[in-house]
Amino acid sequence: MPKYVFVTGGVISSVGKGTIAASLGKMLSVRGANVDFLKIDPYVNVDAGTMNPYVHGEVYVTCDGGETDLDLGWYERFLGTPMSRLNNLTTGQVYLEVISRERHGDYLGQCVQIIPHVTDEIKRRIRAVAERRGADVVIVEIGGTVGDIEGLPFYEAARQMRLEEETLFVHVALVIYHESTRELKTKAFQHSLQELRRIGIQPDVMVARSPTMISADVRRKLALFGTLPIEAVFCSYNVHPVYRLPLVLEEQGLGDYIAEKLGLPNSPNWSSWRRVVELYDKASSPVRIAICGKYAKLEDSYVSIKEAIWHAAVTLGARPQIEFVETEEFEEDPLRLERLRDFDGIIVAPGFGKRGAEGKIMAINYARTRGIPMLGICFGMQLAVAEFARNVLGLEGANSTEIDPNTPYPVIDLLPEQRGLKALGGTMRLGESEVVLLEGSLAHRLYGSKSIKRRHRHRYEVNIEYWDALRSSGMVFSGFTVDGTRIEVIELRDHPFYLVVQYHPEFSSTAERPEESFVGLVEASMRRAYERTKSLTISANPEADYRSA
Ligand code: GLN
Repeated sequence: MPKYVFVTGGVISSVGKGTIAASLGKMLSVRGANVDFLKIDPYVNVDAGTMNPYVHGEVYVTCDGGETDLDLGWYERFLGTPMSRLNNLTTGQVYLEVISRERHGDYLGQCVQIIPHVTDEIKRRIRAVAERRGADVVIVEIGGTVGDIEGLPFYEAARQMRLEEETLFVHVALVIYHESTRELKTKAFQHSLQELRRIGIQPDVMVARSPTMISADVRRKLALFGTLPIEAVFCSYNVHPVYRLPLVLEEQGLGDYIAEKLGLPNSPNWSSWRRVVELYDKASSPVRIAICGKYAKLEDSYVSIKEAIWHAAVTLGARPQIEFVETEEFEEDPLRLERLRDFDGIIVAPGFGKRGAEGKIMAINYARTRGIPMLGICFGMQLAVAEFARNVLGLEGANSTEIDPNTPYPVIDLLPEQRGLKALGGTMRLGESEVVLLEGSLAHRLYGSKSIKRRHRHRYEVNIEYWDALRSSGMVFSGFTVDGTRIEVIELRDHPFYLVVQYHPEFSSTAERPEESFVGLVEASMRRAYERTKSLTISANPEADYRSA
């Protein structure tokens, strides 16, 4: 029988519940358990696809084309197991199902209510995750904080499951560091516990989130208020890399504690995970990478890209210094482009819409003409085609019809099947499909295979009417869909590293298995970093260089 671990949150959101849930999963998976996850997002959207990443963070795309919460990315990066759309549940999905059943007449004669109809549907969806791959344990992370109105039916369903299944409740809440008295305050944590109990949930385990390890006193105090033994209270403090978190919690005894509570085998094998963390500790050569995008002010918008850079870099012994660059800046003042000169590699981020797009084109032009290693992703690839068409083919005003519907040269245009589509939710070209790589190309060398599978999320593509012109001016189309009708990868031969891809490589990178295009970018960036430092050392004024470094 599957077991269910519920993770609830208190005080504020964004305390790293996702990485704590992923760590719990890791702790059980190194003990041989088959673990699956469910992220519950109590908002009314059916999925994350229609939300602005600037507000909610990145939209994470699963193999089966789900547009989901970014926490699913953490589950995959920690465990390496592909998630599906089933692993993310929202209020919108629950109501859509219940209401369509009501219209169908499935509840004929009944008054349809939150309890039991909505809570039954929630429980059905939680159990469906266990059935998906025959999981031994499902970690159910309830998004937001306890007390949120939207969350109530989910907490209620979880409470009911306590009687029906084998469950364990883990409450994660912030312990506040109070600047003026220089101490950790537990009052808000206590209030969140009271709120949880008011709903009828008594936690089995508590995790205090704080900047540094909590003292035995704080632990004792939390245990007292939580009606728990002190052994059931743990601390998630700031660690780097975040992949160290399961080890830190393991050292505190959390792994043993939950394995025993759930009656699971308890002989963990951490060897391969420890190797990952050691790579981070050893990585030392600095390499500067810019992520050029428009949601640059919120780091969570590009979390998968950032993590993928790190995964790749540490396997090469490199320590990336990542900066987020807002491309609108270049539109306001083209001189700011010079800023890119100090980077060893550039990523042109995915995106939608007009804002910052011209700035991205400027950044691409800079990278192409100055020989800076560049990886363009999705929108980044499309704008690279526009840049090339304008500046190499001389097609002035060439653009994507997404940005300029009246462009004289629509080098990027809607996918044929997208024409006439009215509804915008979940209707892009989504999910994983095969990409066939050209033998002898850079992509082929990097991937070491003629065929790969990668995830997609787009409506536009390279317009077939411009294929010949682009090719004859030097663009190498090195990746296609299986039927050969769509371009997936483009590269340039006479450039240190110029690779632009229609798919999203960042969703295929995990801590234990970096994605090849990122490895290629970092490798090339390290060469540039080496050249840059070499030119510094032969500089006329080495002392000044040293000081400025
Ligand atoms: N806006 C572009 C499209 O829809 C690119 C999307 C993306 O970068 N994910 O095709």
